[in-house]
Formats: sequence, C-alpha cells, structure tokens
Amino acid sequence: MAIRERAAHPGEVCTCGRPALVVHTGTKWGPIGWCGLNDGGNLSGPCPFCGGPRHDLGRCPHYELRPDWAQPPK
Ligand SMILES: [Zn+2]
Ligand SMILES: [Zn+2]
Repeated sequence: MAIRERAAHPGEVCTCGRPALVVHTGTKWGPIGWCGLNDGGNLSGPCPFCGGPRHDLGRCPHYELRPDWAQPPK
C-alpha cells in the first residue's frame, strides 16, 4: 500500500501534538499527521498523548490522528 499525502482536516494533529498540516495515509501505523516542522515536537513538557516524557524515537504509542482533546480553533 502506497503512502499518500493529503491535506489535514480540522482536529487532526501531528505526532508532536501540534495541529497537522498534512496527513500521510497508508503507513504501517495508519494515518499520521504532520505539522510541517521536523523538530519532532520535542519541546519541553510532557508528551501530549500519554502524559509521559517526550519520545525521542518515533511517535507515542497512544498517538491518535484525532485525539479527543484536539478541537479546531473557533
Ligand atoms: Zn509536529
Ligand atoms: Zn507519549
């Protein structure tokens, strides 16, 4: 299955927790958002998905494209 890219929809987030710009579909993990920054979102503070330390390698196992807390700005 080829990896494809589409524009992200409101409420979809990057693995770093930022709002996603694009979503890659067809990955072995399913759809994954990307915010457009390659810093991995490894800012200070806990992982937005599991509340633990930031993950240096790969995405959080609790990552969801549309987490419950991701509300599009009004
Ligand atoms: Zn990001
Ligand atoms: Zn995490």
